[in-house]
Amino acid sequence: SGGDLPETLRRLDGAPYGRYRSLTGRRYAAGPAPEGLTVELVRAQTDPYAPPARVAVQVPASAAGFPAELYGTPVRRRALACFLARRAAALADDDLSVDAGGQEVLDRSSCQVSERGAVTLRLNVPLPGPGRRIDGRAAEDLLCRRLPRLAERALCHGALDAAAIRRFIETVEDSRALREALPGLGLVAFVADGAVLPRRSGVDDRPATGPSVVPFRSPEELRVTVELPHAGAVSGMGVPEGVTLVVGGGFHGKSTLLRALESGVYDHVPGDGRELVASRHETVKVRAEDGRRVERVDLHAFVSHLPTGQDTTDFRTDNASGSTSQAASIVEAVEAGARVLLVDEDTAATNLMIRDARMQALVAKEREPLTPFVDLVGSLHREHGVSTVLVMGGSGDYMEVAGRVVMMDGYRPADVTARAKELAAVPTGRRAEADAFPAVVHRSPDPASVDGTVRGRLRVTARGTDALVLGEHTVDVRAVEQITDSRQVVGIGLALGLLVREGHLDGRRTLAAALDLLDAQLAAGVGPLLSLRDEDFALPRRFEVAAALNRLRTLSVTR
Ligand code: ADP
Ligand code: MG
Repeated sequence: SGGDLPETLRRLDGAPYGRYRSLTGRRYAAGPAPEGLTVELVRAQTDPYAPPARVAVQVPASAAGFPAELYGTPVRRRALACFLARRAAALADDDLSVDAGGQEVLDRSSCQVSERGAVTLRLNVPLPGPGRRIDGRAAEDLLCRRLPRLAERALCHGALDAAAIRRFIETVEDSRALREALPGLGLVAFVADGAVLPRRSGVDDRPATGPSVVPFRSPEELRVTVELPHAGAVSGMGVPEGVTLVVGGGFHGKSTLLRALESGVYDHVPGDGRELVASRHETVKVRAEDGRRVERVDLHAFVSHLPTGQDTTDFRTDNASGSTSQAASIVEAVEAGARVLLVDEDTAATNLMIRDARMQALVAKEREPLTPFVDLVGSLHREHGVSTVLVMGGSGDYMEVAGRVVMMDGYRPADVTARAKELAAVPTGRRAEADAFPAVVHRSPDPASVDGTVRGRLRVTARGTDALVLGEHTVDVRAVEQITDSRQVVGIGLALGLLVREGHLDGRRTLAAALDLLDAQLAAGVGPLLSLRDEDFALPRRFEVAAALNRLRTLSVTR
């Protein structure tokens, strides 16, 4: 520890602003309470107009005072840390910015609870210095009075609502238990009865409210009861492995259901409405995204004999079409380890999804490069164990290949599988255009092509959830829809930096194997990414890391 912060700051009063830097790298005692609290200036601000300084506040377990059962497992520590970050963000005044995220409970750099119950809060603090001179008194007030007071009110058990903490942790634990129970039940997703799926608006992820909201209610045929550690027996709709088709009239809630499944890979805060909506960890939403880059992906299952004569087993483009971009995203998701694909007609390329009997009659197979997904989706499950949940209100061709058909009707799901199978038994004259989905060709990225450094330093910034700036390049991630938080975009950039720095990408190792190493390293939390850069970020999933890498315009691979 570096000694007494108030005294040090008083000594620096009036010194040039840059002297704040002399405080970095040491932990200071900063106030009378909470007992043992330390403050560390991780990164000083270079001048009063530069981005704020990074400060880490640590409260020892004895002062934080949480009962051991609240931090006894990694899941509980993550939940408790998320709760504390949200409290700190709510209580902090405008100067102190604490990253607390939205409706999802993610591992974040802003707050950590250690195995022993100590709490560390990392936040951004503007250091006072009018006229480019250190204002020692204002700095003392900020760092030695307001910060400790915030720690006392937001990070110490005694000041918090114990019942709310318990509810938060139990909610996360149940969600986790539900997700982990899915494979054993033969399910890819579960939506609890009573869940609230619609959101307030396209830009407000909180639950919709009011009398028009229809809570979820499972159809009897798909009703499953799951026993959870805290909620006990919970009933809801189980989405089975295989191919599940969601049909129904426009505006009846199909996309809303699918979006809830997309978000079901994450845990949600109490009151979200989706606390007990869970999808398998390895669930990936895929969609069309014309204009994206594709680097040496084997697309021949979907695309063959292009008019340009290009080899589609080793396909690259800087400007993919809707159909080729979606085909690439499907193959890349499987390459990265997806076990469940989610597809919505609203964001899919029609010509990759369907080709009906009349079109087959008019345009001969030899003149059509595309093989529609309808002829591959069954094999993807049978041969590769990859399930699909697909929203398709506009074509009946998927009835033949779907194991289950769910109809959304006034926001209520009904199982219409039997009727759909009767209809599917009536021949339409349509012929299948493929019999098997081929094995994925794995690629080994060249680490130099993923380099995110500028003059030797890793450069990572997020533009909301739209773009990742990595080194000299901007990666468009708007179509990577399961990125749920702009801080995850920063996490993706850091994860790419880690893949390169650790040598996980070495030019020979496949992307999938490198992602396995990344997962193993990040299993214990944000530590490895924090050691690259102390700033606000949230842990990304391997699939979003892969998606960003696949959209890098510089990527090169061998295979
Ligand atoms: P679809 O994809 O079938 O056309 P959407 O899922 O886009 O329909 O839903 C249409 C509208 O209905 C959206 O504004 C959505 O927020 C709203 N909505 C969806 N589910 C519910 C629900 N359970 N209760 C109330 N409104 C809902
Ligand atoms: Mg829709």
